Amino acid sequence: GFRMGIVGLPNVGKSTLFNALTQTAAAQAANYPFCTIEPNVGDVAVPDERLSALAEIAKSAQVIPTRLTFVDIAGLVRGASRGEGLGNQFLANIREVDAIAHVVRCFEDEDITHVEGKIDPVADIETIETELMLADLDSLERRVTGLEKRAKGGDKEAKEQIDLVNRALVLLRDGKPARLVEVKAEERRSFDMLQLLTAKPVLYVCNVEEASADAGNGFSERVFARAEEEGAKAVVVSAKIESEIAILPEAEQAEYLEAVGLAEPGLNRVIRAGYQLLGLLTYFTVGPKEARAWTIVDGTRAPQAAGVIHTDFEKGFIRAETIAYGDYVALKGEAGAREAGKMRLEGKEYVVHDGDVMHFRFAP
Ligand code: GDP
Repeated sequence: GFRMGIVGLPNVGKSTLFNALTQTAAAQAANYPFCTIEPNVGDVAVPDERLSALAEIAKSAQVIPTRLTFVDIAGLVRGASRGEGLGNQFLANIREVDAIAHVVRCFEDEDITHVEGKIDPVADIETIETELMLADLDSLERRVTGLEKRAKGGDKEAKEQIDLVNRALVLLRDGKPARLVEVKAEERRSFDMLQLLTAKPVLYVCNVEEASADAGNGFSERVFARAEEEGAKAVVVSAKIESEIAILPEAEQAEYLEAVGLAEPGLNRVIRAGYQLLGLLTYFTVGPKEARAWTIVDGTRAPQAAGVIHTDFEKGFIRAETIAYGDYVALKGEAGAREAGKMRLEGKEYVVHDGDVMHFRFAP
């Protein structure tokens, strides 16, 4: 599955947020047991109203959401790139995630110490990014000599990599993340092999005080501006509210949300933004037994999408019977869609759309 790493300076609300994410009723509901893989790793259900709408039409016995994995990566302090704190462990953990949810403190509270002495989320972002950029610089500089040798010896792969390494180094030395390197499609694989921390997509999670949970505050506005500049995303959330919602029975959540002026838990925004950041989309399989959501990367063709369910589906793929979500709902299910000519037969080249209801035909 896809993994989001939660990072941030100490005392910004990372654990509060992670606990809320993994304790929430939604993470455990819908017949899908929430499982803790390790204490700091949790699978979270991706909230999607379309799934329950489909299940209702098909009278599915089970509803199984798709999931996103969150990893709480504690231990980042100034100096991590030099091995301070849990520096090296921390950097190794970030290397293993697909994207970063960077929590920043946007609330004032005199009782809770700020490690840098004052509330300044943009400065905090820079502190962390500096550590990540230093780690990337270090890892690239250590590789340059070896790569140059191999390139001189005629190694094509090394030649391509050294070019990418140099382009990344120019940016990093200028204090900019490797995310900004313009990578051509044919270079993507080599670039990914460099495993740069600052090449990973970032979502800033602005942890605000309760009164600002919906609209954000002056601090979060500055974070949003910063995100825009560097091609990142940002969301507002109150970790404190979320931790309170998470432990409420589902029936009481709506009332609580209304009282604090939220249309839905802020965590839903975090999960959805993470999903978007990773370029993911959802297709569905729907029947009387279960309605289930599946995650694919945008641009995936039908056989590979089928392969997410089972490798046999991909190997023996014949065709996919496909109904767009809107058609399925408007025509009240598969039979109606079929009668109206809205069930399409799609072949190997079909690029699956977000919301497609799929039924795969395959030869065993
Ligand atoms: P971490 O070190 O980043 O994991 O931070 P924690 O989640 O442990 O939070 C540090 C402290 O800040 C705890 O005492 C939390 O209860 C408190 N905290 C977290 N979020 C908020 C918030 O939104 N408002 C206030 N006032 N306190 C918060």
